[in-house]
Amino acid sequence: MNLSRREFTKIGCKIIIGATAGAAIVEPFIINTVAAENSPVQGGYNWEEHFWGYVVDTRKCIGCGRCANACKLENKVPFDEEVYRTWIERYRVKKTSLETREEEVVIDSPDGGIEGFEDDIPAEEIKKAFFVPKICNHCDNPPCVQVCPVGATYTTKDGVVLVDYEYCIGCRYCIQGCPYGARYFNTEKGTADKCTWCYHRITKGLLPACVQACPTGARKFGDMKDKNSEVNKIIDEERINLLKPDLGTKPKVFYIGLDREVR
Ligand code: SF4
Ligand code: SF4
Repeated sequence: MNLSRREFTKIGCKIIIGATAGAAIVEPFIINTVAAENSPVQGGYNWEEHFWGYVVDTRKCIGCGRCANACKLENKVPFDEEVYRTWIERYRVKKTSLETREEEVVIDSPDGGIEGFEDDIPAEEIKKAFFVPKICNHCDNPPCVQVCPVGATYTTKDGVVLVDYEYCIGCRYCIQGCPYGARYFNTEKGTADKCTWCYHRITKGLLPACVQACPTGARKFGDMKDKNSEVNKIIDEERINLLKPDLGTKPKVFYIGLDREVR
């Protein structure tokens, strides 16, 4: 059966409305992996010609927070709520205790790192410290899409995981289902929300706001269908790591210089 996402959505809703027990809701979870058939963008953009990817070079991140701030401004993410489409985590590995022989790792992300980070541990106690920008991985095998009972979250043909706000019923299953903590509840819309890689910008040939704002080039974005794109060159030439690769989510955010402590 070849269903468009909207056709599927109608069927999914009927099943759920008719359901009286959790078991009856399981079926749409299993079949709801269809990608969108119609592009959400009108005009000259052809989503068949692109397949987007993102690179984070943790060696270059200085934790300034400009990316997270630019994202909130661009995407109207509330500044007075602790919700983020992208954020920066600081990892500090303390020197091994001579008594216990244990290594302590302190991870923090105050206000998503938007205002930067304070030095609240004496430098002499720290063995190493680094920043890790995080964002939706736009997984090729996204659990958030699989658990959505109404087909409101879906994958575009150019590889971006989006939420259709008209169809989202705000059940929050996808927020629970994302193993990366990349989704939040948008209290204004009453729906789930997340990073779109600034879909409204990239489909006009612009960079995502976070990539544009980064002063050090720690974030890169590009078309993996373009053999000469910077993202493709980095993936070919650098040692790349993924977050939580064992989960089989197939992230499309590729990390360079990822420390073994990063979760
Ligand atoms: S990171 Fe989370 S929200 Fe993003 S595609 Fe993967 S599972 Fe979905
Ligand atoms: S703007 Fe760049 S350097 Fe600054 S925190 Fe974000 S990724 Fe790191």
